Amino acid sequence: MEFQLTDEQKQLRDEVRKFAEEEIKPVATEYDVEEKYPHEVMDKAADMGLLAPHVPVEYGGIGYSSLENAILTEELFAADPGIGLCISSAGFGAEALMEFGTEAQKERVLPEVTAGDAVMGSAISEPQAGSDVTSVATRAEKDGDEWVINGSKMWITNGTVADYFVVVCETDPEIEDRYSGYSQILVEGDRDRLTADKITGKLGIRASDTAELRFDDVRVPEENLIGQRGMGFLQLMQFFDETRTSVAAQGVGIARGAAERALEYAEEREQFDRPISDFQAIKHKLAEMHTNTEAARWLTYRSAWAVDNEAGDLTALASMAKEFASRTAVEVADEAVQVHGGAGFVNDHDVERLYRDAKITQIYEGTTEIQKNIVARELLDEGA
Ligand SMILES: Cc1cc2nc3c(=O)[nH]c(=O)nc-3n(C[C@H](O)[C@H](O)[C@H](O)COP(=O)(O)OP(=O)(O)OC[C@H]3O[C@@H](n4cnc5c(N)ncnc54)[C@H](O)[C@@H]3O)c2cc1C
Repeated sequence: MEFQLTDEQKQLRDEVRKFAEEEIKPVATEYDVEEKYPHEVMDKAADMGLLAPHVPVEYGGIGYSSLENAILTEELFAADPGIGLCISSAGFGAEALMEFGTEAQKERVLPEVTAGDAVMGSAISEPQAGSDVTSVATRAEKDGDEWVINGSKMWITNGTVADYFVVVCETDPEIEDRYSGYSQILVEGDRDRLTADKITGKLGIRASDTAELRFDDVRVPEENLIGQRGMGFLQLMQFFDETRTSVAAQGVGIARGAAERALEYAEEREQFDRPISDFQAIKHKLAEMHTNTEAARWLTYRSAWAVDNEAGDLTALASMAKEFASRTAVEVADEAVQVHGGAGFVNDHDVERLYRDAKITQIYEGTTEIQKNIVARELLDEGA
């Protein structure tokens, strides 16, 4: 068993860390305050090969493994989760194309995304369908050689900036099996009668674009169907182990970013004629923050390894990692604000933003409660 990164992985980590320090950190507060999508940073991220790097080389990507993805995600989120999410979500939905798409779909979409010329979105959630994905009500009906789509999608990352969406639709409602009858359909962002309304006022990750999508008789050609008709939900389930591991890495990044900033501040700030890091209460906070971050990182790496090696326990591990790392992010960011005292309550210091940003990791890609349900289900061998 090796408990160290390879030289290539260390190099990847160092390069992304440098990029995050130079290109993301200095502008993070500005994009957060203005709630605007960081187009300029995205161009630089494309030059660095950071957009959808898990896409195979033949479609313009680098073919990164889940472990490599975890390493780079941690670096981006340690600098700023809002911009970090913009970068790591540029290829949301790309897995569906990679795994089930036609050659024509892959050749058309994936190289554009990795080059930074297009952004994707994954549209699953709806106003009435959150944790229960099987209650998706957006309908796609066949009319000649086209699909006609009606419904609305809620909370869609990249909603107003995406060029392509992978949309989960109900196509075969007559099928009684709870998990069948849904299909994934590729919808171009500029299709007629598709509207996107940006959601503002988010607690955190404010640089990331989030929107509600409305489909009002939106027509796409039949060849936009991804994979087999009626199998969309089952296709989707296959990616959750990977995407949840990625959110776990986001949590590790946020926790590390907060723990590092707290350490730095504690050594600088003086009270009672000494640095506050001299007080045992602060020392213990710093020790716990760094210990929990380390534990979250190794659980996340273990989950990523399980994804890369298709290990039997990967579903439980991905949910354990997601639940634990997101909780660690929230708790460590909370303590980082505490170590900063009043200074942590305003956005002169990054910990204020990290504290707000951390919460989303307990909500998207399946809430904390859903992760615990999955872990318990796997332990009890209850089946889906
Ligand atoms: C900023 C942001 C970005 C997002 N991006 C995307 C995106 O790109 N694409 C997309 O499709 N979706 C996206 N989402 C949606 C996200 O995945 C959902 O918000 C999440 O799955 C929870 O669904 P919900 O909000 O409807 O909450 P609900 O499902 O209504 O849950 C409410 C509460 O009930 C609990 N609960 C529900 N069911 C159970 C159960 N069986 N057992 C125990 N507790 C339960 C939940 O844990 C939660 O605490 C995003 C959300 C946000 C806020």
